[in-house]
Amino acid sequence: MKDYYKVLGVEQSASQDQIKDAYRKLAHKHHPDKAGGNEQKFKEINEAYQILSNKEKRSQYDRFGQTFDGSSPFGGAQGGQNPFGFDFNFDANNFGGASDMSDIFDMFFEGLGVKKKRRAYQRGADLEYIQEISLEEAFSGIKKKIHYDSFEDCSKCGSKGYFEKEGVIKCSNCDGRGEIRETRNSFFGAFSQIKACSKCKGTGQIPNKICNECSGTGRIKKQKIADVSIAPGTADSQLIKIPGGGDAGERGADTGDLYVRIKVKPHHVFQRHGDDLLIKKELNLINVLIGKKVEIPTVSGEKLNVEIPTDFNLNEKLKIPNEGMPRFNNYGKGDLYVSFQLKTPKKISPKIKKLLEDITNEI
Ligand SMILES: [Zn+2]
Ligand SMILES: [Zn+2]
Repeated sequence: MKDYYKVLGVEQSASQDQIKDAYRKLAHKHHPDKAGGNEQKFKEINEAYQILSNKEKRSQYDRFGQTFDGSSPFGGAQGGQNPFGFDFNFDANNFGGASDMSDIFDMFFEGLGVKKKRRAYQRGADLEYIQEISLEEAFSGIKKKIHYDSFEDCSKCGSKGYFEKEGVIKCSNCDGRGEIRETRNSFFGAFSQIKACSKCKGTGQIPNKICNECSGTGRIKKQKIADVSIAPGTADSQLIKIPGGGDAGERGADTGDLYVRIKVKPHHVFQRHGDDLLIKKELNLINVLIGKKVEIPTVSGEKLNVEIPTDFNLNEKLKIPNEGMPRFNNYGKGDLYVSFQLKTPKKISPKIKKLLEDITNEI
């Protein structure tokens, strides 16, 4: 059994907020589409979060080192659609984003005489957007249109940042080579490191006319609209990735991604515990005695007429199967639990009092 706390890097005493926070950071870091991402690790993080973010599962896990519903949130997901709507296709092109690591590789390849094309311009930033939804929307699933500001390619210069037809001159800083060699002395000896020239950003050329629309960056801030498809059963804090929804890169470099974080608003009637829902219901003592059916609302908007079994202990919660939230990948639904509160009549008329006394004598 894996140590889920270790996977998320939190203490066993961590609060739900700390767990959420740790999950969010790690999910960003290890997302398989990202530079240095790791699919296996990403799945582990999600599995750990599924357990530790659910109060019941967490306490089972704390006590017994496992949970008992038998469902591994990712066990059946091989080959199928993963519950987060992420695509796990590893994008090798994004690998260049890791500047420190690629510097080290550069030094290594330099020694082998391998020439690697240097990335001169920064990939666009990933963005995060918080989308609030209601519990009903999380139940049914919903499509949302979100509006947000981000960098987009500048159309005036075709995201180049300058006008080609105005010509270029050779960069004086690197003498047109686009790279600068730096020698670093370290504990292990002298390392020669080649870097992209910062003045011409590795192109070796300085344009004669910079685009004034984008100040030479090749991108401008604009309002974007994205369609987000939120699946039924979506959990609070879940991330949905929109590939290419982030900032445009400098001068035509790769675009970042958009991560939409779903915030499910607390509900005035239902409390959510993972896939299960809890509702509080007042009961009239007399109605219980005469076996009158109780009307229970469900999150789908229906009303159920529920009979309380005569041997039912009113201190316990009544379970109504399959009236909870949809589980991921449509593995059925959670359950609805009803917690009863007995209400006694405020005033008892002499007539009722007499009747009750008669009943008591009969029992
Ligand atoms: Zn421009
Ligand atoms: Zn230069």
